[in-house]
Amino acid sequence: MLAERVKKIKPSPTLAIDSKAKAMKASGIDVISFGVGEPDFDTPEHIKEAAIKAMKDGFTKYTAVGGIDPLKDAIIEKLKQDNGLTFKREEILVSCGAKHSLYNIAQALYGPGDEVIIPAPYWVSYPDQVLLNDATPVFVKTFESDSFMVRPEALEAAVTKKTKALILNSPSNPTGMLYDRASLEKIAELAVKHNFYVISDEIYEKLVYDGAVHVSIASFNDEIKARSIVVNGLSKSHAMTGWRIGYAAGPSDILKAMTNIQSQSTSNPNSIAQKAAVAALTGPQDFVVMMHGEFDKRRKFLVGQLNTIPGMTCRMPAGAFYAFPNTAAIYGRKFGDRIIANSTDLALYLLEEAKVAVVHGAAFGDDKYLRLSYATSLEDLKRGVERIREALGNLKDGS
Ligand code: PMP
Ligand code: GLU
Repeated sequence: MLAERVKKIKPSPTLAIDSKAKAMKASGIDVISFGVGEPDFDTPEHIKEAAIKAMKDGFTKYTAVGGIDPLKDAIIEKLKQDNGLTFKREEILVSCGAKHSLYNIAQALYGPGDEVIIPAPYWVSYPDQVLLNDATPVFVKTFESDSFMVRPEALEAAVTKKTKALILNSPSNPTGMLYDRASLEKIAELAVKHNFYVISDEIYEKLVYDGAVHVSIASFNDEIKARSIVVNGLSKSHAMTGWRIGYAAGPSDILKAMTNIQSQSTSNPNSIAQKAAVAALTGPQDFVVMMHGEFDKRRKFLVGQLNTIPGMTCRMPAGAFYAFPNTAAIYGRKFGDRIIANSTDLALYLLEEAKVAVVHGAAFGDDKYLRLSYATSLEDLKRGVERIREALGNLKDGS
């Protein structure tokens, strides 16, 4: 008999779609994948070299559970330079990806009776990590007309005596929303007033466009910093998804608890990947700038094209690498006898008929949308968009 908690969760839908697309590709089908959010660029050479050197030097043993000091110091320096945040080593924990950092937070903070506020649309793992720790996710809807920023009054209305934390993600996966300073200041005021933690997932901070600026909520004052845990990682910024290095920074008592949890689960993150991460954070950053420029071009192309497809409208995302078109006008249309009633039907139809993998909005808590990752070549974006246009053109009126 499996434990009760297992019944409450589902596999990560983004990873599930990715494995389905990969299986179709392996069987010889020409699938274009806008599914999983992962940079298509290779990890920069100097980062790989650092890993090779680590192996050759025999840096292949256990390390300190929470990460080696040179990596903690590189993270401390990064948080200072980029985010205006000052941390000590005991306030940092390096984990096996930002997902693992978030999971350690969930284990350290959430328990039975606790409520964790999650603005929707949200990234797929937030609710399930809350559920795995026997706490309750409380969703606060956000609206396209507000650029998907949570309304402070809606946030405050969701706060109860049981509220333990709020999970913020700016720039956002899946919407591409980026909070401006004023909106974040209002959220910070509420966190201090009602005394709840803010888990600030900043993994897409390097990917903001049109001159916009990413601001970390923890940077406003000591009161909000004492209630914030900043999460970040190298997967997106340095095209290092497979290396599994993420980190959290926050109050030392919480970080100590998280480190204890990690010491009883995974132990240290991979020693070789830690050395690579030091090179990523302290070495040349021209790769980050290059990748940003490429994503920006793709963003403009994809969103521009999606807005020419009948039935779709798409906001220009301010950050991350996802387009999040509103596809509600398509629901109710038919392909033969098959009715496309919701985002799940539409994503399946596109995968089967157009051979294009996208993620259904329902996976992120809003059925009106689809998510398309544009972390893929311009060539594939062009081909994929034409396939989507054609497949949607084949749908007939449902009535
Ligand atoms: N947060 C968000 C919002 C994400 O999209 C992802 C997906 N990669 C992660 C965290 C986790 O990233 P990783 O575990 O690869 O560091
Ligand atoms: N964060 C990526 C995505 O949303 C990777 C998949 C995952 O970690 O679930 O597609």
